[in-house]
Amino acid sequence: MKALIEEQKKYFNSNITKPLSFRIEQLRKLKSVIKEYEKELTEAVFKDFQKGGFNTFLSEFGGAYTDLDKAVKSLSKWAKLKRVGTNMLNFPAGSYILPEPLGVCLVIGAWNYPINLTLVPAIAAIAAGNTVVLKPSELTVHTTAVLAKMIRKNFDPAFFAVVEGGIEETTELLDQQFDKIFFTGSVPVGRIVYQAAAKNLVPVTLELGGKSPLVIAPDANLKICVKRLVWGKFVNAGQTCIAPDYVFVHKSIEREFLQRLKIEIEAAKFSLANQNYAQIISEKHLDRLVKMIEPAKVFIGGNYNRPNRLLSPTVMINVSPDDKVMEDEIFGPILPVMTYEDINQVVSFIKARPKPLALYLFSESKSLQKKFLHEISFGGGMVNDVLMHFVNDDLPFGGVGTSGIGNYHGEAGFKAFSHYKSVMRKNTWFEFPLKYYPYQNWKFSLIKRLLGV
Ligand code: NAD
Repeated sequence: MKALIEEQKKYFNSNITKPLSFRIEQLRKLKSVIKEYEKELTEAVFKDFQKGGFNTFLSEFGGAYTDLDKAVKSLSKWAKLKRVGTNMLNFPAGSYILPEPLGVCLVIGAWNYPINLTLVPAIAAIAAGNTVVLKPSELTVHTTAVLAKMIRKNFDPAFFAVVEGGIEETTELLDQQFDKIFFTGSVPVGRIVYQAAAKNLVPVTLELGGKSPLVIAPDANLKICVKRLVWGKFVNAGQTCIAPDYVFVHKSIEREFLQRLKIEIEAAKFSLANQNYAQIISEKHLDRLVKMIEPAKVFIGGNYNRPNRLLSPTVMINVSPDDKVMEDEIFGPILPVMTYEDINQVVSFIKARPKPLALYLFSESKSLQKKFLHEISFGGGMVNDVLMHFVNDDLPFGGVGTSGIGNYHGEAGFKAFSHYKSVMRKNTWFEFPLKYYPYQNWKFSLIKRLLGV
């Protein structure tokens, strides 16, 4: 690994990656390479957790292609030197902000969207003019193998390399001196990554997780709400970082909400046989989820098949904040439902816990929407829908507090992998005498007058 990082440093220092023409060429190449491997990657994802092709295209390739196109189209604008004002004491001079690549970047991915969560940060790193070492998850064995093959066959490892492996390999990678670490994964591993980065003073972007609430007000359009919730919760069998983790529904509409939920879940026909669902990534992950289910509180589902790593869409009712299912991020197809009567208690409940990666409110009330947006801190979210903010490239995506540090997608991704260098250019034909020794009273009063103090 040390040799690989050295090789990438040499490559970066040769300035090859800096011209925009090089970056655009590599991004275009990456797009055609992904297209070439799209079928093989789709099959690999299916082998890993039986996620169907439709789902894989929407959630893995769609975002990667859009991000690639946007980067190619907007790169010259993003990378442009920006002229800013110059203060009086520096007159005459020009001041500029110049985005520059950080250097050798490490991208560590999670398994739940194994293509999107590795390639989209890599696209941003390449657009910003860096070299990339990609470390996909070891849990998606087949997808990681195809990703590695695809990148090794088409890119010089001095520019874009893949390291396969789990904890041991990642730990070794984290010991190296990178110029940037971009990590997607769980909060506990995020802490490990942050500590390792601190040792070498490496800047990080941490895309983490946590419990993302969904709140339904009495005035919500319940039909639409339930449709969107069922899709967003159970797509990928609930293994989505921004999936609604739990629901708070107003007591007055609980009954209707649950009836609609039942109908909608049945109508969605979640099944591995029709490729409308996905397996839980491992038996260990399934066991963890099963432990969260309290049979007496199951309203829908609760069935599982260990050898098949299948857990049916499960809804739990009469849930209390002390229940096991409310302890940690669920990251699976279990939906705990809690009721409320006073919206202020819901706001206090959310604010008393770690800041969510996503927050969803279903309500037509402008004042309630305003209250949620202004009073609660969260990474990103939506009013009257779920998940879809992730696919708007103009919205930076990331967490806050324990749900993450920094953000990406579109220009935010370019910024995450860039340093904004501040530069002042002076002329030599004029000298401003006030700062020079010997200090004298007239200089002092003139400086004060110029500063207006
Ligand atoms: P994870 O933290 O277990 O693993 C992520 C990466 O870290 C993997 O590449 C893995 O090999 C590596 N890793 C695991 N343990 C390590 C250790 N001890 N030392 C060094 N590296 C280690 O996460 P996961 O299970 O792959 O993903 C699920 C979590 O990721 C959930 O919490 C989810 O919310 C979060 N997530 C967040 C986003 C986001 O964009 N914010 C997206 C997807 C997933």
